[in-house]
Amino acid sequence: MNILLATGEAVPFAKTGGLADVCGALPVELSRLGHKPVVILPAYRKVRYCGLSIEPMGIDFIVPVGSKMVAGHLRQSALPGGDVPVYLVQQEQYYDRDGLYGTEGENYIDNCERFVFFSRAVLECVRLLDLRLDVIHANDWQTGLVPAYLEIEYRGVPRYEQIASLFTLHNMAYQGQFWHWDMLLTGIDWKYFNWHQMEFHGRLNLLKTGLVFADSISTVSPRYAEEIQSSRVGCGLEGVLQHRRDVLSGILNGIDTGEWDPASDPHIAANYDAASVSQGKPVCKAALQKEFGLPQVPHAPLVGMIGRLVDQKGFDLVAEVILRSVQTSEVQWVILGTGDPKYHELFTTLTERFPQKVAARLEFSNPLAHQIEAGADIFLMPSRFEPCGLNQMYSLKYGTVPVVRSTGGLADTIDQSNGFIFQEYSPLALEETLREACDAYRQGEVWSRLMATGMSQDWSWARSAKQYVELYKTTAERIRQTVAT
Ligand code: ADP
Repeated sequence: MNILLATGEAVPFAKTGGLADVCGALPVELSRLGHKPVVILPAYRKVRYCGLSIEPMGIDFIVPVGSKMVAGHLRQSALPGGDVPVYLVQQEQYYDRDGLYGTEGENYIDNCERFVFFSRAVLECVRLLDLRLDVIHANDWQTGLVPAYLEIEYRGVPRYEQIASLFTLHNMAYQGQFWHWDMLLTGIDWKYFNWHQMEFHGRLNLLKTGLVFADSISTVSPRYAEEIQSSRVGCGLEGVLQHRRDVLSGILNGIDTGEWDPASDPHIAANYDAASVSQGKPVCKAALQKEFGLPQVPHAPLVGMIGRLVDQKGFDLVAEVILRSVQTSEVQWVILGTGDPKYHELFTTLTERFPQKVAARLEFSNPLAHQIEAGADIFLMPSRFEPCGLNQMYSLKYGTVPVVRSTGGLADTIDQSNGFIFQEYSPLALEETLREACDAYRQGEVWSRLMATGMSQDWSWARSAKQYVELYKTTAERIRQTVAT
């Protein structure tokens, strides 16, 4: 299959979350399976520091954005670990900025314009690069317009008429909503601005646009594919998803085992595998305690958390549980994250009050993320909702036992054999389950079994990539038949 993967971010070029991990790893695996993927993303300022060479291609183009004609250039690179070409869309005014979508907690006010331009560039690239594609695989709101342009403006063009589109949802909570006048920037007829298509409560909604116009829709776990059809998790788009459920499926993300493997991880104090975990892990735990300024007590259960500090991730529950239990329990907490200022304040206060038990680093640090995965005993993810979640799978690989809430991808990956899982979103439910985990931790044998099960499981991309290939094939076949009739 020939696939163009369009995305707002991809590791190692630019990353704000799990979307980047998927878009950096899936294409490499597709290529290993003998397919021909290419990736396209904006050339943000950050991409210059990714450590890969990014070459100009001498390909310039102009696309309409509202009433303006805007020029851009293509640059070229490749994903490490494979021969997957990556095309970067350069447009200094839009992308040569500090952040990907905003800075200091504020979104850029011209985000709609930036991604109208990018989406148009994606479709133009097919022609400019002479790509013969089976599928364009778009991801999240940043590329929600891609299936719409393909359907509305390009279907009649010979090169494009047989290209199928797949739209993958990585998180329903981020929809790319803009005021209605931004419809003018898209250049798409106002007749599409209705509640069946691009409009959502009077605003332009790019995620909804992608859902409506894509030939197939996928999301990042089977459980999340079910949950988003309900009002609890669908973020207002559950009706659209129910309507399109015939073409909606869930494929669990994989993890990049090249980067996340305790046997070869360069960031951790001692390398280990399943056979040597009992020697390696205590070294990593002591190093983590030292790094975070906690007392180096070998037997105290060490709970780790990594993630964006946002309501989705259940940090409010964590703060309550810490406050209730910290005086009486020997549990140590290590938290790594950035995000909402209210959580920065909360965790700063907690670390100041309980420096012997709670340590937080409010920053984005890949080495520290690796050190927590290796050094913690328990990895906590009490999310309200979780499309897939990657950290619980990294944890399994590192022999760190996950405690998770039963939602989305967490429910699809964790059960009694490899971790602990609770249902109700409440501090009490979390506290009880954590206590259970700590009890098991003290029973060496039970704990060793949990670790061994997790470490032996296969969460690599090889499995998920095959499912994507199947989905590409069935979608492309459906479109070929539609075109033929
Ligand atoms: P989401 O996509 O909702 O952010 P995921 O668990 O799917 O959540 O992916 C998050 C990714 O970002 C993981 O690879 C995680 O390790 C990483 N990450 C999140 N916050 C940080 C941080 N502060 N420092 C380092 N890595 C982080």
